[in-house]
Amino acid sequence: MKKLTVLSGGMGGARFLQGLLHGITAGTLPGVDGDAEVTVVANTADDWWVHGLKVCPDLDTVMYTLGDGIDPDRGWGRRDETWSAKEELAAYGVEPTWFGLGDRDIATHLVRTQLIDAGYPLSKVTEALCRRWLTPTWGDRVRLLPMTDDRVESHVAVADADSPSGRRVVHFQEYWVRMRAEVPAETVVVVGIDDSSPAPGVLDAITGADIVLFPPSNPVVSVGTILGVPGIRDALRTTTAPVVGLSPIVGGSHVRGMAEQLLASIGVEVSAVGVGRHYGARSAGGVLDGWLVDERDAADVTGLEEAGIRCSAVPLMMTDHAATAAMAAAAIELAAS
Ligand code: GDP
Ligand code: CA
Repeated sequence: MKKLTVLSGGMGGARFLQGLLHGITAGTLPGVDGDAEVTVVANTADDWWVHGLKVCPDLDTVMYTLGDGIDPDRGWGRRDETWSAKEELAAYGVEPTWFGLGDRDIATHLVRTQLIDAGYPLSKVTEALCRRWLTPTWGDRVRLLPMTDDRVESHVAVADADSPSGRRVVHFQEYWVRMRAEVPAETVVVVGIDDSSPAPGVLDAITGADIVLFPPSNPVVSVGTILGVPGIRDALRTTTAPVVGLSPIVGGSHVRGMAEQLLASIGVEVSAVGVGRHYGARSAGGVLDGWLVDERDAADVTGLEEAGIRCSAVPLMMTDHAATAAMAAAAIELAAS
């Protein structure tokens, strides 16, 4: 197995990729070549413009994580970060004060914004940024592609008693960072998705892969938005590669983040079986051949198999690289079975 394609969000996807690459390097993934190539198709619907800068949280989390520049405690942004620019902006009273951009991180956004202003598409800009973060360690073996070059943004409708309509629509970042996902979400609106097209290389990465993996990323605002880009779902339905996912829901709740709230808002049961059925079996018009659930959710296996999805229950906590590599190995084994 030479070509692996992963549809990734931010932290969950990045941690999974670390384990996957660890497994490739250590030779512990069954049937995977030591020089296998990994293409990451990352969610860009978390992106937004703030303080005049184009910020791409999921692309950057993957890039910094695989380039060893991530802050390991926060799981986002740069290590050894300082916050002078944020403090200065706050001193001017410039909103949003609740969104933290670190000084080192700002350099990335300045470079990205300049290149975008100069007319380069996000995919080219990402390639340029990755020459710093990925090439030194991974050469050509790891590619990071935005799901689309078009502007697509997740917004969340939340209840708001002060508004005449009883609701207010905020950018996903405001829902997550300012409101901490504590306000009930009524629905998720992915602005621009219907008119977007996959970035160059994305469809080929799916149709030309030996395996496609969904890491335990958010099913609504990470994998869900990637699947919403017209053409991507069809590529997954028609690829000859097996498509296998890993559940981000363990024991009926998310491990971190806000998947529970958002799954509820789209009417999907918050469980490993609920998310697996939501993606659906490829044999029945969905996108999955296989789905891994955590050992604690072993009782879900039968229901998923009945839905036409191959399933097994294994430990799914990404506690360290070795444990995560074992998850990747289990996904690859499931694909081969
Ligand atoms: P985000 O963009 O930073 O929110 O990251 P992702 O969308 O890639 O991943 C978020 C998802 O990862 C959440 O729904 C979590 O439940 C899931 N997650 C985080 N850590 C783990 C873990 O150790 N095991 C599993 N199974 N899921 C995890
Ligand atoms: Ca994200």
